[in-house]
Formats: sequence, C-alpha cells, structure tokens
Amino acid sequence: MAEPKNTDLMEKVVSLCKRRGFIFQSSEIYGGINGFWDYGPLGAELKRNVKELWWTTMTRMRDDVAGLEATIIMHPQIWKASGHVDTFSDPMSTCRQCKKLVRADQVWEQLTENAWAQAVAELCPGGQVDVARLLGWAKSKGQRIAPNLALVRNPELTLSWLAERVQQNPAPLEMKELYQHLATEQLRQTGLVTPCPHCGGELTPPRPFNLMFKTHYGPVESEDNLCYLRPETAQAIFVQFKNVLETSRQRVPFGIAQMGKAFRNEVTPRNYTFRSREFEQMELEFFIKPDEVVEAQAGAIATVSAPGHPGEPQPNWGWQMWHKYWVEERIKFYEGIGLPRTTLEEYWQKPEELAHYARACVDILFKFPFGTQELEGIAARSDYDLSQHARCSGKPMGVFDEELRAAWIKLDQTKKDELWKRYFEARRKYLEKTGETIEKAAALAREDADGLAKGLYIPHVIEPSAGVDRLILGLITHAYSEVTETDAKGKSESRVIMRFHPRVAPIKVAVLPLLKNKPELVAKALAVRDLLRPHMNLFYDEAGSIGRRYARQDEAGTPYCVTIDFDTLGEKPELLDTVTIRHRGDTAEDNGRQERISINELLPWLLARVR
Ligand code: ATP
Repeated sequence: MAEPKNTDLMEKVVSLCKRRGFIFQSSEIYGGINGFWDYGPLGAELKRNVKELWWTTMTRMRDDVAGLEATIIMHPQIWKASGHVDTFSDPMSTCRQCKKLVRADQVWEQLTENAWAQAVAELCPGGQVDVARLLGWAKSKGQRIAPNLALVRNPELTLSWLAERVQQNPAPLEMKELYQHLATEQLRQTGLVTPCPHCGGELTPPRPFNLMFKTHYGPVESEDNLCYLRPETAQAIFVQFKNVLETSRQRVPFGIAQMGKAFRNEVTPRNYTFRSREFEQMELEFFIKPDEVVEAQAGAIATVSAPGHPGEPQPNWGWQMWHKYWVEERIKFYEGIGLPRTTLEEYWQKPEELAHYARACVDILFKFPFGTQELEGIAARSDYDLSQHARCSGKPMGVFDEELRAAWIKLDQTKKDELWKRYFEARRKYLEKTGETIEKAAALAREDADGLAKGLYIPHVIEPSAGVDRLILGLITHAYSEVTETDAKGKSESRVIMRFHPRVAPIKVAVLPLLKNKPELVAKALAVRDLLRPHMNLFYDEAGSIGRRYARQDEAGTPYCVTIDFDTLGEKPELLDTVTIRHRGDTAEDNGRQERISINELLPWLLARVR
C-alpha cells in the first residue's frame, strides 16, 4: 500500500518557511522559476551550520580526509569519462495533447496526486468498474478536470472497450489498467496507452532525457566549446586525486571531501526543495586498498559479523567493512544534528539495481511528510571512476605502496597466484565492459595484476554522497511542532515551535532586555550581545512584550533566550550580573524552563551547547 502523505504538515511547513524567511521561491516577483529556491535569512544560517558541521566532521576532525573546492564547469571530457554524457538521463514522456513533460518512471505516483485520477478512484473503488457513473462523470466534471482523457473526448467508444474487457474478466481491474483503459480511444490500433497525469491525454513512449545543463565557454557558441554545469561534485575529486594525494601527504586509505553546487535539469522538480534543478551536495570519496592488496598485507580480510558500527578502522578492512563503517558514520552524523535513527531507514539496493561497477549501495532514507525518500547514498564503487579517468585522460591513477611490495615478496606462490588471479579477473571484467577486445582486455589486465608485485594498484572507493537541501528540508519538517496554550482568560491559541538541535539552529541565542525604555537594561543587554556576537549567530530584540519575543524565537527555532532584567542590574544584590536563560526545550513539558546564570559563565555555557 502507498505510504500516507502528510500534505497538511507540508503545507504548514511551506507557509512557515516563507513567513519566517527560511525558504523563498527563486525569482518570486517574476512568477518564480520551477525547481529553483532561495534561502532567506534563517534558511541561510541553517544551511551554513549544516555545511560547517559536515565539513568539520568529515575533514577537520579526521586525520584521513582532505578537502577540495573545485570549479563548477570542468573539461567536458570528464563527463564523457564518467558516463554522464551517455547515460545520465531520466526516461521522459510528452503528453500529445497538453504537451507537458512527465518523468515516465513517476507517472503513476503523480497520477494518484491529481484530481481526475482521484475522482476515477472514487467512482470505481478498488477497480470495480461502474460504467454508468463513469459516463455521467465524463459528461460533467470530467470535462473540466480531464479534458483530454479518451473517456471524456469519446465516452461511448472508450467505455465500450472497457465493457468488453470487463465481460471477458469480471474481476475488479488493477487501478493502473483502469486508468490506461480510460485514456485509450483506439484500443485495436494503439493498445493500452499511458495517461498524462495532468490532463488525461496520451503520453508518448519514454525517451532518455539527459539531465545535464549545457553552456559554452568563450565568446563563440559551438560544439567545440560546449561544456556542462556539473551534475555532481564527485568527479572533480577523482580528477584531482593525484594532486591531492601528492600535496596532502595522505596515503590510502584516505578520503577527499568536497561540497558545493550541482545542477540537474530534472524533468519534474517536485516536493518543494526535495528535487530541485540547482542544489548543493556534500560528497566524500574515500579511497581504499583493493581487497587483494589488503589480503596480501594483512593475511585475511575482516568480515562484517555484527550489526552496528564496526569501530575504529583496521588494517584488515576490505571494502565491505569500510562501506559498513561509512554507513554507520553517516547515520551517527544525522543523529548528532537532531535526526534520530527512528526517522531514518537504510535501503540496501538489490544486486539487479546496482550499477555494473558497484559492489553495494545503501540509500539513507528520511521519513519526509510526502514519503520516505533518499537523503544520502553510500556506494562502494570499486576502482571504476579512477580507472575511467586513467583510461580517458591517459594519465596514470594508480598508487605505489611500499608496504604492498614488501608484503608481496613474503607471500607463498599459491597465495600470490590466487590474489593475482582475482585482481586480474576484476580488471579484465572492467576492461571488457569499456569495449576493449577480449585479447586487449586480457593483456591490459595482466599488466595491472603484474603491478601488485611492484606495489602498484588502483584504489577502490566508498562514496557517501549527501544533498544539503534535502537535509535542510528534513531538519525543518522534523523540527516543526505546534503547541496549544490557554491564557488566563481561557482563550486557546496554537503556535509553532521549531525544535532544531542547537548545533544547527539558525539563531543560537536571543538577547532580550526586559524593557526597552530603561536605558540601563538596554545598555547591559547590548554589552551581553557584544560579548556573545563574535562566537555565534544571535538576535537582539527589544520590541514587544517579553512573551511575544519568546514566541517569535520559538518560531525561528532559537534554543536559548537570555533576558536582562532588574536583578541583572542588582535589584537583588545577590543576582547582580546574572541573566535568565529560557530554554526552548525539546518537549512540550520542558518548553519555557528558565534558569539563572552569571554573565561570566554565559559564553562557555552556550558554547558547550551550540557547537
Ligand atoms: P534521486 O534518485 O532522488 O534522483 P540520486 O540517487 O540521483 O537521487 P545521487 O546522484 O546519488 O542522487 O546524488 C546524491 C545526493 O544528492 C542525493 O542523495 C540527494 O540528497 C542529492 N540530490 C540529488 N539530486 C537532487 C535534486 N534534484 N535536488 C536536491 N538534491 C538532490
């Protein structure tokens, strides 16, 4: 059964994002542009925090990862080598009537969201065909909401085919078949056609549509200076692999991290920012030794035996342990910024879903209001990428490993033969896939396998690839909560509290003088603001009642409010130079809890919580 969608929550989130300045439609005053989004003041801070945390976790806190910041436009041959020019496409159909474009693999999902398909489902519950009701609908409401549906254009003929079908088999129809029947006018000539989700018209058979945005460099627009906006950040990492290796003094296993813009001309951008045409990625390519090399050096490969995090990396880890390690590390990251494991799911791609070069791929899914969908993919991509760039650029991408050379000498001949054969077979398979003749592939693979004895190999890679914008959307939908409060006069009111984890919250602390017309309070509050401001994003607010100001911060997701009152000034001498900290709180029960703290302790107190 399809997962229930929380459209209500999604509508509230979209409205809040606009009202409070998290996310705006790009180019809004000109009517917007489909698939492009801007981040407002709160959204920009939230995004910055997420990227900063990813960068710190993945590079600065590790000895084995180096960073990279490459250009968006790169040599067009990179995209030929990576396979994007030939295969980075989605199947696309066009509606013969309304001319809208539809992603062929999303037709049925989109259909169930559209009014005409929902109306048909109500007229024929569970696929139980009701010809009379369909005819009535076709001649009334159907004309407005599905003008191009065969049933609406030619009801008698379309229904006669359907009646024939029901006569042959009176069991209820699958809904998909029912929709197809209602969209088919000339059954004998065309067979069942696929309906356009928008108007019910006939969709063309799917054809591949390349998702890369094209442009040209230099003043002349010709095939010779055609180039692409990068559809992912990862390829730059592969092509700069050697430069980073040589300058960072890293040795395999090690990773290169990059984050930045990526562009995909998605056929149907949807679900708010989830599928955009311009978005940001945070990608790591973690280079590891091929299993044959690990086995030569460590004697045997560690196997994944228990669920959960496999612990600190070990020299006997092959690709499976490294892959598992990165899946767990990434989940740990999400937990650390406020997405509990219960909101995430792991989807292990089935062998038939994997790209031919991939050993495994896990999608980390998040429970969005519109369904459980991919947040990040973690793939074990073998040595495919480096091999492709080595082959297409003519520049070697292998590494020399003295430890391997020394270990190889000590192996007995049987072991050498076994490892050599395994490495040879993997290389031969890859080379044959690239189109080399059987003889040439075998000859090249032999050279590669002979390299093991000299300490040479091409590293394999584990790729955790995450989308910034999807994560932001996940954090926003997860943070959204409403509380209903009743005032002293018995009047109830609902308001929004955004329960962001303090590490990602756009505003870490609000500084509030109790009253704005008391210069001593304001002066003290400004001093507190200046004390904290160099260390974190804060908001100074003196306008309105203190209750209203707290509520405004709750809606922005600010975890702490600092109030400067008369006790701060020494009205009660024992409270001189102390402030009230109000916690937003992460449950309805502890929301609004307050405590008193000395100004001297304020900065370390906050830093310990917001970093
Ligand atoms: P999908 O199947 O959802 O199109 P994908 O498998 O093509 O995603 P990858 O190529 O693995 O995605 O890209 C890595 C990450 O980049 C995704 O997990 C996602 O978070 C992000 N991403 C990919 N495409 C988009 C997009 N159009 N809009 C926003 N984020 C995206």
